[in-house]
Amino acid sequence: MSKEKLVYLDNNATTPTDPRVVDAMLPYFYEIPGNAASRNHPFGWKAEEAVDYAREQIASLINVEPKEVIFTSGATEADNLAIKGVFEMYAQKGNHIITLTTEHKAVLDACKKVEKMGGQVTYLEVNDKGLINLADLEAAITDKTIMVSVMWANNETGVIQPMKEIGAICAKHGVLFMSDATQVVGKIDVDPREVGVHLMAFTGHKMYGPKGVGALFVNRKNPRVKVTAQMDGGGHERGMRSGTLNVPGIVGFGKAAEIAKAEMHKDAERLSGLRDKLETALMNNLEEVYINGSKENRMPHVTNLSFKHVEGEGLMMTFNQNIAVSSGSACTSASLEPSYVLIAYGLGDDLAHSSIRFSLGRFTTEEEIDFTIDALTKGVSHMRDLSPIWEMYKEGVDLDAVVWSAH
Ligand SMILES: *Cc1c(COP(=O)(O)O)cnc(C)c1O
Repeated sequence: MSKEKLVYLDNNATTPTDPRVVDAMLPYFYEIPGNAASRNHPFGWKAEEAVDYAREQIASLINVEPKEVIFTSGATEADNLAIKGVFEMYAQKGNHIITLTTEHKAVLDACKKVEKMGGQVTYLEVNDKGLINLADLEAAITDKTIMVSVMWANNETGVIQPMKEIGAICAKHGVLFMSDATQVVGKIDVDPREVGVHLMAFTGHKMYGPKGVGALFVNRKNPRVKVTAQMDGGGHERGMRSGTLNVPGIVGFGKAAEIAKAEMHKDAERLSGLRDKLETALMNNLEEVYINGSKENRMPHVTNLSFKHVEGEGLMMTFNQNIAVSSGSACTSASLEPSYVLIAYGLGDDLAHSSIRFSLGRFTTEEEIDFTIDALTKGVSHMRDLSPIWEMYKEGVDLDAVVWSAH
């Protein structure tokens, strides 16, 4: 493999835009410049037609009605619209929302806003596999509960929640079920109605579409769900989201949905093979490598691994000129914080800091995986060779019993 090539294994952060998607979008920048809301000339009609078609392509991917797809600027906006919009719309019914501690910040921060607006939010813990405890969920529902919001699959670990079981509990208690499905739509079969999901957020740029366009599915019958608009203006998108539609973006999002529908099963099968190869090889080549989160309930293209006694950010520096991945540490202002998701799975700070997320994608090749296996094996071995902690561990020192001096 050529030295200049950068291996991209950060597809959970964003996917490359499929060239077929780019081709579909191009005419809508110049040749067909219309505003989809312009009702009195062919430019507007053509733009509206293109938006309608994209809405059908997206609805078809998730098996819903086109009218149930509300376009937004992405999943962050869709999450905000669902959570704040339901909180405002259902104020008569109650003010309580239930979610998980391991949700994406778009959900957690929208929930914090709801608390500031006088709402109550329960943040459920997950188990050491990253899965919700269904008994805890049922026990948390009160007569003030209006909605449960649980992500379909986690962005850091790929862990998939038991959606059908959660949906059944929500239905039994008559509360709405919202899901951030950003990491699953276009990757595996997703049918919100089949599992009792009433609102569902997803985005173009995690499924080989463009950035800056996403959608919220809003269930229209049994029950007819409504959300209060968070943006005031021209009343676009059935009054739920004002603002001129991003026509080229929506066209690309639609094309991405069409391609995903045709190819996602084939992609998933190939990528799970490559993911397993990567995981198995690293665990065979190196000691003390751990998989974070459920191995059984997991997206096919993701693995989140901890390399014990190796600091993830430092490890990344040994190969990040050649391989793009994510570490389980987040830069918050001045300090490096361990991932709150991995901490919620029960990992200690050290194991959380030693984690790396590999997220494969449609354009990942076997050659790239072989290159990654080699680079990681060398990188981890190198870091451990230099590490006094690893040396102590190898000498059998009980590291948990060592009292470290403050520095
Ligand atoms: C990427 C992501 C988002 C944010 O999506 P944007 O379209 O970038 O706003 C929200 N939730 C999850 C789970 C994600 O992975």
